[in-house]
Amino acid sequence: MWPALAILALAGAVALHFWWRGRHRRLEHEFERRQREAEDRAERDEVALAEARSQQHAVFNSMVEGLILLDQAGRIRLVNLALEKLFGLTRDIRGQTVLEAFRWQPLHELVERARAEGQVLNHELELGGSERRFLQVNATVFPDQQGRPVGIILVIHDLTRLKQLERTRTEFVANVSHELRTPLSMIKGYVETLLDGAKDDEQVAHRFLQTIRKHADRLNYLIEDLLTIAHLESGQTALNLKRVDLRELVGGVCEDLEARASERAMTLENDVTDGLAARADAERIQQVLFNLVDNAIKYGRPQGHVRITAGRPDDSGMVEVAVADDGPGIPPEALHRIFERFYRVDRGRSREQGGTGLGLSIVKHIIHSHGGEVRAESRPGEGATFRFTLSAAPPDREPES
Ligand code: ADP
Repeated sequence: MWPALAILALAGAVALHFWWRGRHRRLEHEFERRQREAEDRAERDEVALAEARSQQHAVFNSMVEGLILLDQAGRIRLVNLALEKLFGLTRDIRGQTVLEAFRWQPLHELVERARAEGQVLNHELELGGSERRFLQVNATVFPDQQGRPVGIILVIHDLTRLKQLERTRTEFVANVSHELRTPLSMIKGYVETLLDGAKDDEQVAHRFLQTIRKHADRLNYLIEDLLTIAHLESGQTALNLKRVDLRELVGGVCEDLEARASERAMTLENDVTDGLAARADAERIQQVLFNLVDNAIKYGRPQGHVRITAGRPDDSGMVEVAVADDGPGIPPEALHRIFERFYRVDRGRSREQGGTGLGLSIVKHIIHSHGGEVRAESRPGEGATFRFTLSAAPPDREPES
């Protein structure tokens, strides 16, 4: 009996052992599988986190607005590329406070206000220095998932260009009103004098009427130039680009202005090489040449010469046209301003000659819209030369575009 029982017990023990080992192995496998899964998950989470981080950086760095992220202690955690550019930062400012990094009290005060109020929107700040900058700052406290404040985000827009445009527009309107009012009040004054009795003196009446006509003409030129500028700036009309023979075009302008030149006993010389051609809008370039040659006649020396030349200065694929006179020239301090609207070196002389102060800004506009450059060179007493460039047209005739 006992041996049988002992054998049974042994067999039970062996079976239990194998069952236990089997279970242990299964548990071991299960444990390993779960560990592998956990590791895979952790790896995937890490990749996802890295991806999210790099996406976040890409978003921040593609923003045109400057961005600063502050932690709860007011230390900078992150700035984007636009902000680095805006402030010309060359060093790492992470870990510093706004005051330490920018040494700019108004920005520090804004951060403190945002901390107290939760949000400050559309706050405008002016940044001094060599170049004045206008910034608009939005500061917002941001919370964690439980709603506790964890930091402040500052978004900074650079309004400098917008402000400049606004100022240019206001100045333009003021200038236009002034320029329109001057000839109008002259016309009104002469008409009133005529009505008050001057009309009875035939000679005086004739002189006054001629003056009235001159001022009416000025008003007309001014309105035409204003319309041209508005038209050019609207960008509504496309350039009609064609092959333009420069010698022919200059010849036509010289012919149109011959009478004006001979009034001042001046000579116009078309020295453009035969066969030189630009790819341009003929009508617009004619206007450019007309304005430049007309100016050379107006401001040049009586009995002087106006010479128009053209050539290909290098192999950049551009032609350069030059209009040169031998008049008194342009003072160096005025050279960089003469392309501005309504800028004249001698206001009285320009008005006397029927000038509107818009001719050169029209020239600049047209040349830039062709992708060319225009500049003025002058040494007082030695005349002025205006040069502009245009794309050269290939030598052979090409079909019209
Ligand atoms: P305006 O209608 O007064 O001629 P522009 O824009 O054509 O206006 O020219 C601006 C100013 O540039 C002129 O008032 C004049 O003082 C100066 N200027 C232009 N061309 C010449 C030139 N060839 N020689 C001297 N001064 C010039």
